[in-house]
Amino acid sequence: MTLEPRPGILDIRPYKPGAADAPGIANPVKLSSNENPLGCSPKAREAFEAAAKSLNLYPDGGAVKLRAAIAEMTGLEADRIVCGTGSDELLQLLGRSYLGPGDKVVQSQYGFLVYRLVAMQSGAELVSAPETDYRASVDAILEAAGDDAKIVFLANPNNPTGTYLPGDEIRRLHAGLPSTTLLVLDEAYAEYVDEADYETGVDLARNHDNVVVTRTFSKIHGLAALRLGWAYADRSIIDVLNRVRGPFNVNAPAIAAGTAAIRDTEFQRRSAEHNREQLAFLRQQLGGLGLDVTPSVGNFVLVHFPDTDGKRATDADAFLTSRGLILRPVAAYGIPHALRLTAGTAVQNRAVVNALAEFLKA
Ligand SMILES: *Cc1c(COP(=O)(O)O)cnc(C)c1O
Repeated sequence: MTLEPRPGILDIRPYKPGAADAPGIANPVKLSSNENPLGCSPKAREAFEAAAKSLNLYPDGGAVKLRAAIAEMTGLEADRIVCGTGSDELLQLLGRSYLGPGDKVVQSQYGFLVYRLVAMQSGAELVSAPETDYRASVDAILEAAGDDAKIVFLANPNNPTGTYLPGDEIRRLHAGLPSTTLLVLDEAYAEYVDEADYETGVDLARNHDNVVVTRTFSKIHGLAALRLGWAYADRSIIDVLNRVRGPFNVNAPAIAAGTAAIRDTEFQRRSAEHNREQLAFLRQQLGGLGLDVTPSVGNFVLVHFPDTDGKRATDADAFLTSRGLILRPVAAYGIPHALRLTAGTAVQNRAVVNALAEFLKA
């Protein structure tokens, strides 16, 4: 007899991270995982190195210093914050806590793939609400959710599309959901957005007990290797997450580096500014090559390729990889004709544009 996991587990297709290797190329340019091209805050690196002196000690299981620093920098209440091993872990914990077999989970059509994994791990059923022009539709999400969805996951801005919903739409979404549906607003890219009508969901989460906002240190803080994220919600939800998380889920070097990173507003400002410039460059240059680029407020762009022999996204991916430029195919999201490109350094972005010009000409 073989051991059988719970029903549904073996249906899960494991998450495939962005590729890091290009065959035969020693130092490829990795633009497949939306990592920060500027590295991380020098202060965060120093704090990480200092933490190496005490690797024999368990971390602070409550991540008190880190939560205090987040609270100080964001104006949020430290006792309504929980930290996780990446925001990924927090999404998993929400699923573990609130979902059971047959429960309904709703996401937008091109929602982040982790939401599917979270639903499947609990035997819940994922319903995807259709998008228009790669942008989430509040009406479609509300229709899919009805009155019995357990969780609605929405990344704002979304990955892999880079699009966002303005504050009034997020509030309309929340207002249309019953109080028994948990609205999870995944704000992994919030710090990059400077559109006037964008709003973080923290005010909604402050005033309602069915809203969770998640944030990450993996993107604008450039600490993806350390796996660190946080969630903000009503105390009742934070209490639940504190019961189900591992007692030492966040490690000490991550706590130290994260505490320094959240305070380094200069590094965050530089990262956002660099991103703004490079997004504009990419949109303009790729558009100039005749490629459709979905307007993005994240640190990446979704680039659409023609349905022409030799010029499809798969061809472009092979061509770029052979030149050591690694992008992210998004067929797993149901967008087989596009590639997602992280905004890298100016030199890297220029290299991608030049290579794509060559590819399209050939
Ligand atoms: C990158 C990303 C995250 C961050 O995940 P971590 O586990 O914190 O690294 C979360 N949500 C979305 C939509 C992302 O793109």
